[in-house]
Amino acid sequence: MSTPPARKPLLPLDVALTQLLGALADRALATERVSTFDADGRVLAQAVVSALQVPPQDNSSMDGYAVRVSDVASGAALPVSQRIAAGASGVPLEAGTVARIFTGAPIPRGADAVVMQEDCSELPASDASSGRAAILVNTQPQMGQWIRRQGEDVTLGHAVLHAGQRLGPAALGLAASVGMAQLQVARRPRVALFSTGDELVMPGQVAPEHMAPGAIYNSNRFFLASLLRRMGCEVTDLGIVPDQLDATVAALRGAAQAHDVILTSGGVSVGEEDHIKPAVQALGTLDLWQIAIKPGKPFAHGRIGPSHFIGLPGNPVSSFMTFLLLVRPFLLRLQGVADVALPRQTLRADFAWPRADKRQEFLRVRRNAAGGLDLFPNQSSGVLSSAVWGDGFVDNPASQTIAPGDLVRFVAFNELLA
Ligand code: AMP
Ligand code: MG
Repeated sequence: MSTPPARKPLLPLDVALTQLLGALADRALATERVSTFDADGRVLAQAVVSALQVPPQDNSSMDGYAVRVSDVASGAALPVSQRIAAGASGVPLEAGTVARIFTGAPIPRGADAVVMQEDCSELPASDASSGRAAILVNTQPQMGQWIRRQGEDVTLGHAVLHAGQRLGPAALGLAASVGMAQLQVARRPRVALFSTGDELVMPGQVAPEHMAPGAIYNSNRFFLASLLRRMGCEVTDLGIVPDQLDATVAALRGAAQAHDVILTSGGVSVGEEDHIKPAVQALGTLDLWQIAIKPGKPFAHGRIGPSHFIGLPGNPVSSFMTFLLLVRPFLLRLQGVADVALPRQTLRADFAWPRADKRQEFLRVRRNAAGGLDLFPNQSSGVLSSAVWGDGFVDNPASQTIAPGDLVRFVAFNELLA
């Protein structure tokens, strides 16, 4: 137990990720039915197939008049023979007349275009020979103009949403538009969260001016809990694990009963005096990986009974980045999301990175007004300010220098956290 682990070669990130996702192959979360109102951020467990056409019938996309194009060509005043509001259903359009119509109202049979009211002059009933109000159409309408076609959004029998799709606001609206009051989704992953480290103090416990030498506030606990919730997880925050083997074993054993994942930060570096590693090994299995990334080299994955154990490094930026690079895809895949790749885009670096690392690097950057990327000056793995100042990171291949003007791979934080 006290012998330091043998030094392993650094694992490329994609290999580590494939291995981590491979550990999920045997697991799929149970599903549950939730109100469409409550399904934001959840992952669909089955396709949503429309049992109707959307829109259900041709309707007007303007306030104006439904006309027959051929009637307008004469240039004569046309009587208004009916009025159709949204929610009403008109009658077939009498020849030589128009229908007053409003946005969303069904197009009456026989009409083949809508003219905006701005393009018409209204004649009082007394001026019209028919005794009805009439209009003059001041433009020559195109066939079909301002008509939204039946089924142009969704056709009957069409799958509008797919299993494995993560739901956002627009998807909830689309599900509702085909009549879905409830949706079948993966249940939320249950995640137990621990911090390790005797130097850690909770904000509020000790005032800044009274912090002991060497003490630091536990910042990882806050962003990890928040990241987990954004990934749709139910979080049990178990605080800071006491620095004793028995207590650590007991805490892990208890957490494993009721959680899909146990996530810890700190104590996975090589040679660390820490009880997390021996405790996990006592209860199950543990793989300690050295991943070829910077920040965030050490990473642990293991099993305790049916539960996965994931250990992140303690340095705040390492913890934050390894969550985004490894834990995020793991939690999404656990819920059934197929595509968990980083949403990369190509942007111009407006900075130099002359001394490349042998590891794949993740540089905190910010998009500037000129469409390029500025670099946060301090890229240390302890400097959490970089992740707040930055709005994303450059995914820089191993041993790659960057000169101003180079195109680089950028990943926006808000796309990962949505
Ligand atoms: P470790 O991975 O445990 O060796 O920790 C590496 C560095 O991260 C040390 O400087 C720790 O003090 C710091 N650290 C570990 N856990 C946390 C935490 N929860 N919040 C803030 N800093 C931490
Ligand atoms: Mg530690």
